[in-house]
Amino acid sequence: MSEIPKDHPRYASLMTREKIVEGVELGITSQQGLVAQGRGECFDYLIGEQTTASAFMAEKVAVAMLLLAEHPVLSVNGNAAALVPDSLVRLSEATGAPLEVNLFHRTEERVNRIIEHLKTNGALEVLGSNADARLDLQHSRAIVDSDGIYNADVVLVPLEDGDRCQALVDMGKMVITIDLNPLSRTSRTATVTIVDNVIRTLENMIALSHEMKGLEEAELRKLVEGYDNSHTLSDAVRQMIRKLEELSGL
Ligand code: ATP
Ligand code: MG
Repeated sequence: MSEIPKDHPRYASLMTREKIVEGVELGITSQQGLVAQGRGECFDYLIGEQTTASAFMAEKVAVAMLLLAEHPVLSVNGNAAALVPDSLVRLSEATGAPLEVNLFHRTEERVNRIIEHLKTNGALEVLGSNADARLDLQHSRAIVDSDGIYNADVVLVPLEDGDRCQALVDMGKMVITIDLNPLSRTSRTATVTIVDNVIRTLENMIALSHEMKGLEEAELRKLVEGYDNSHTLSDAVRQMIRKLEELSGL
């Protein structure tokens, strides 16, 4: 890893970049993942590199959905595995949702490396290597486990691809995505879109899971039923417009 002085004004962002580069070096993250990270960074700038009130609300609803689910699954790709392996394990423990590796640029070697990486970070079991079921898609993200994503009712898909998000929704699943780009196909297709950095999101969701575990089922249902994803998306765009206006000195 490159040395980054702790007092560098962009320390957190640069450290994140280092983690993704390290992920590529370890054979966990694809090179295309670097491009996705860059796109995410740009949108993070526009949102002020903080969790907005509407993103926090989406995180709360997402936790309610995971706690209410009968068969929730947390899908893991190469970027998420490089950036937040320990948080994914903690969120899995806090919600009872198993982890499943699912890759766009899939090789069995990379799937196994990510499974091992998650286990090094405390996971006891990770799905994704059975590969015994298919979603209706023409690329590798179609390959899933029958006792994981294939039969799940709620799936959390951080940094997702638009096609698979659509395929999961078409199967009648509730899909939660984490995507800093409110304009992506994924953002527009998911049931709940969290427009926030995956690093901040997972920390918030872990804390919320512990807080909300004690809530009555009816209260959790009320949160989910009152949720409107189009409101979240327009709020994120408005937030970015405000930020640009502020920066332009208006
Ligand atoms: P889509 O396929 O949904 O139209 P896309 O092709 O633009 O989107 P992908 O490469 O498929 O994008 O998915 C990566 C998405 O993840 C991008 O929209 C990017 O903004 C977002 N992203 C990248 N890094 C982060 C991060 N650290 N936190 C949250 N979102 C991120
Ligand atoms: Mg895409």
